Amino acid sequence: MIFSNSRTPTIVLRLQQFEGPLDLLLHLIEQRDLDITEVSLLAVTEQYLAHLREAERLNLDAFADIWEREGFTLDSVRHVKTLGETVSDRLRARVKAVTGLRIEDNYSSQEVGPIAIQCASSGLYHVMGETLIVEVLDANGEPCAEGEAGRAVVTDLHNFASPMIRYDIGDFAVPGAPCPCGRGLPTLQRILGRERNLIVKADGSRHWPLVGFHRFDEAAPVRQYQFVQHTVRDIEFKVVTDSPLTPGQREKLAEIANDALGGGLEIRITETRLRLPIGANGKFEEFVSLVQA
Ligand SMILES: [Zn+2]
Repeated sequence: MIFSNSRTPTIVLRLQQFEGPLDLLLHLIEQRDLDITEVSLLAVTEQYLAHLREAERLNLDAFADIWEREGFTLDSVRHVKTLGETVSDRLRARVKAVTGLRIEDNYSSQEVGPIAIQCASSGLYHVMGETLIVEVLDANGEPCAEGEAGRAVVTDLHNFASPMIRYDIGDFAVPGAPCPCGRGLPTLQRILGRERNLIVKADGSRHWPLVGFHRFDEAAPVRQYQFVQHTVRDIEFKVVTDSPLTPGQREKLAEIANDALGGGLEIRITETRLRLPIGANGKFEEFVSLVQA
């Protein structure tokens, strides 16, 4: 990800002698309106490091918050590239709205490195077919047809020391058609993430969860959300908004989510004003199923 006008978000310090933005503190010291010896440099350093640690945990969605809030003009941004986290339709739509650019996602793993790179022209993922083979298999171990979700299994062709042969990488993906851009590499339509990121239906099958995010604005301005499937029917819908939802807004949001997820579900909305935390794996997951299929 490359972005111009990149300034770090305002750091607010809370010291014994001073409370306010770091920039202002430095300005006052420069102007000799504040004696530097009166300021605890240890406290400043500690708070600055805490801020950097927090910034490390920001993902692209959180950056989009900052871009929107601080009104960056992102004119010189040419590419938004992502890796390490499954890109949701909502994040794609949001980045497109803020930057005007389409996300170019890289699919990789620690075990085998780059696996597939999203084509800038079609949006399909080109599998790195010169270095590895990716198979997408159904529950019976048979190859999935184009458009059908299954388990991604990887064989790397250049790892002579400890080759990975039909290694189950733990992700689900969808095979795609040949790319119209002309590159002859096999393609994936989309990367779906881990098994737990798929909704479990009553018959035990797992599916990519469409949650109807593009309709949320009809009900309320939702800043962020997360779904947790507790049982086949019971789904918790965590909603982040700037102000409390009215009963009507809650009902409408639940209705939209229920329709998009296939109906017949009990959608329980829980509200918060704070950004939802990134998981212990360093990733934010929009949909988590706790149901064992
Ligand atoms: Zn292509």
